Amino acid sequence: MTAPTDQQVIDAVDRIAPRAIALLQALVRTPSLTGDEGAVQQLVAAAMTEIGLDVDVWDPSAEELAPYSEHVGAFDTLAGRPNVVGRWGGSGGGTSLILNGHIDTVEPGVRDQWVVDPFSAEILDGRVFGRGSLDMKSGVVSNIIAVAALREIGWQPKGDLIVESVISEEDGGAGALASILRGYTADACIITEPTAFSIVVAQGGSLVFRIHVPGKSAHGAARNEGISAFELFIPIFQALLDFEAERNRTIDHPLYAEIENKIPINVGVIRSGAWPSSVPDWLIAEGRAGLVPGETLEQFKAEFIEVVMNAASRDPWLAEHPPRVEWFSGQFAPSEISAGHELVDAVSAAHRAVTGDTPSIKGVTYGADMRHFINIAGIPCVMYGADDVSGAHAPNESVAIADMLTCAKAVAIAARDWCS
Ligand SMILES: [Zn+2]
Repeated sequence: MTAPTDQQVIDAVDRIAPRAIALLQALVRTPSLTGDEGAVQQLVAAAMTEIGLDVDVWDPSAEELAPYSEHVGAFDTLAGRPNVVGRWGGSGGGTSLILNGHIDTVEPGVRDQWVVDPFSAEILDGRVFGRGSLDMKSGVVSNIIAVAALREIGWQPKGDLIVESVISEEDGGAGALASILRGYTADACIITEPTAFSIVVAQGGSLVFRIHVPGKSAHGAARNEGISAFELFIPIFQALLDFEAERNRTIDHPLYAEIENKIPINVGVIRSGAWPSSVPDWLIAEGRAGLVPGETLEQFKAEFIEVVMNAASRDPWLAEHPPRVEWFSGQFAPSEISAGHELVDAVSAAHRAVTGDTPSIKGVTYGADMRHFINIAGIPCVMYGADDVSGAHAPNESVAIADMLTCAKAVAIAARDWCS
């Protein structure tokens, strides 16, 4: 058969829009905090089965992921936390495509800060509210609806079209990596994270650090006899701020030129001392440092440690009792593909067909599953999706229904072109 026109694809998505909205509401009403994705994945599997995909539901193996613990974190078990993949087999002779989304979400946070119940999926002003509505259950729905629309108009892909709903993105990406290890690879991948319809071709990396600063305790009434670990940390903290500023001045990646802080170093946790009237003899500072594509984790770690040690060496106590730097939790290597890649052209043309606008091409500072596809599987990957990531992880998270449908239409058109 001849491929459906852009308009036929757009009309098909519009016809099934009510199903898309109902599915998104059902997914938002089923909480799926990272670690507890089982119930919602049953709904996703049912939706994929209903549209006729070959559906694979499996709990990733902690053992299989263990060699990758530096990338995705370590797990005792992932039992009860299934990945769901729906496959539409191609008729042959075409290139294949993965449409990926993660189903896990972060905590809803403080209830009082929400205008609606965070799991109500209430619709206000054309937006579905709730934790995960934007990041990124709407993206998962866009992918399913895109495929449903293509199936309804009777199109047949030549290359395989694979739809993925993966777990554990928010804490390192074990689900995406597990899908790769299970053999789900393709010639390209689109992740429908909320990018405000920019095409994201580069994503920053991140490392999580812990700095131990030793002090010397004394009674608070004679505090000059002690050495406060907290006071010792202040010049180290200043050195980190200077390091961040220096990196922002010198990093010249073109896709990051417009970003005010390209490589944020955030100290998120400080613990120190045990008693109000004792001089604190220890401090632990934990934080997250960003990297841009082209930088390696190892080189950055060495530079970071040098900054901490240099700052410490200027203090006589720390020179003899140096601080210690540890790296823990997931390590997110940066990743990118060329802005001129044919996948970028395909998504750009599809977005233009739906909206008339040419999407911008961007780099972002956050890490996401894109790096597993590019760095581990060698699959060219972009992120493209509805609405703005600034609403994610925040109270009153919401997604515009119209944007979710635009995303579904563009993804369907891109898939039609890519898999033909
Ligand atoms: Zn996300």
